[in-house]
Amino acid sequence: MSDNPIRVATSHALPSYLDPHHLGPWGIFLQQVDRVTPYLGNLARWVETLKRPKRILVVDVPIQMDDGTVAHFEGYRVQHNTSRGPGKGGVRYHQDVTLSEVMALAAWMSIKNAAVNVPFGGAKGGIRVDPRKLSLPELERLTRRYTSEIGIIIGPTKDIPAPDVNTNERVMAWMMDTYSMNVGETATGVVTGKPISLGGSLGRHEATGRGVYTVGVQAARRMGLDIAGARVAVQGFGNVGGIAARLFAEAGARVVAVQDHAGCVYAEAGLDVPALLRHAKATGSVAGFEGAQALPREQFWDTPCDILIPAALEQQITEANAHRIQARLIIEGANGPTTPAADDILTERGVLIVPDVIANAGGVTVSYFEWVQDFSSFFWTEEEINQRLVAVMNNALDAVWHVADDKGVTLRTATFIVACERILRARDLRGLYP
Ligand code: GLU
Repeated sequence: MSDNPIRVATSHALPSYLDPHHLGPWGIFLQQVDRVTPYLGNLARWVETLKRPKRILVVDVPIQMDDGTVAHFEGYRVQHNTSRGPGKGGVRYHQDVTLSEVMALAAWMSIKNAAVNVPFGGAKGGIRVDPRKLSLPELERLTRRYTSEIGIIIGPTKDIPAPDVNTNERVMAWMMDTYSMNVGETATGVVTGKPISLGGSLGRHEATGRGVYTVGVQAARRMGLDIAGARVAVQGFGNVGGIAARLFAEAGARVVAVQDHAGCVYAEAGLDVPALLRHAKATGSVAGFEGAQALPREQFWDTPCDILIPAALEQQITEANAHRIQARLIIEGANGPTTPAADDILTERGVLIVPDVIANAGGVTVSYFEWVQDFSSFFWTEEEINQRLVAVMNNALDAVWHVADDKGVTLRTATFIVACERILRARDLRGLYP
């Protein structure tokens, strides 16, 4: 469509919250887009689309606390891009959630969904709240009020939330119920990551960790790194890091270090991962685990290892610690864990990074399977789910590996090339309305 006369002007001043000089996750996303733009050919004229989220909704979420007082929380739902399909992405509850963060997370969902070629755009939601400080009834009221507030833009064919940091199957059940009560029908497809008995999918709970493991094995094989005996260090021990650690350990790797929000444990011979999972479940952290050496949290970055899996929050690997990392391979389980400056340092040092937008795409891939199953009311076996998941992840990694080799770029840039081409080709074909 090179004869399309539309030119997107770039000279208009950006709204303040889109300012590329604003540090933070959104600023990082903008830098990543700038890096990929020279590779986009004619489609580059649409690149401004990626630099402006399609729709941002900021909502007040007032709830009655158990003591009778009313507390207000700030909630967000950002639909970054819907050129390829409905918005899709999780909802995060965290005391540090900001609009900039949710915008970046929504944008990374657009890239991720396009990279693994599931027919979704990108969206993300969040509430600025420390959920650990809420009782279960308060958490339910918060979830239900938030869902009602964003109900004007979500829906099974519009935008489909899912779990993210500090949200889970139970939160998805409340979201599904609230949306369903408001529209007057049981709409299972409005969220994914639901309990199995409410239209959830087998394998969804484990999917992100399984995807991290799957691409980790493939990347290691390509590097000539044997998983058996490989030393793995994991940051974050929740749904992503915990499950990935278990799968690597089951495959014969040595999980030597785990760091979470409260501590860091180390065992050169390899941690007993099932025992550590039980300990973390019982106490809320890996801290205090017997049978391992306790390290200061910060020392995690110096641990001798072959594979590093950041599976916590954004901006963990920065200029300040990138030089200290000893791994040869980094598999990004978290969204946005590496800053662009750290990316450059690590690439310079020959460390291979499988970026978040491929490495942690297993979750949304099985979310897609869940959504399809909900629409057809026909459910697949866990074996079918896992086989399809592995096929999607391997194909996606193969494709971006090929582009990286071909163009001499990092896997991150290659993934952005593949994904941005898909998004912007759809954008170009759809044209401007009106
Ligand atoms: N929150 C997950 C992610 O960051 C899953 C999103 C989804 O399943 O929609 O990819």
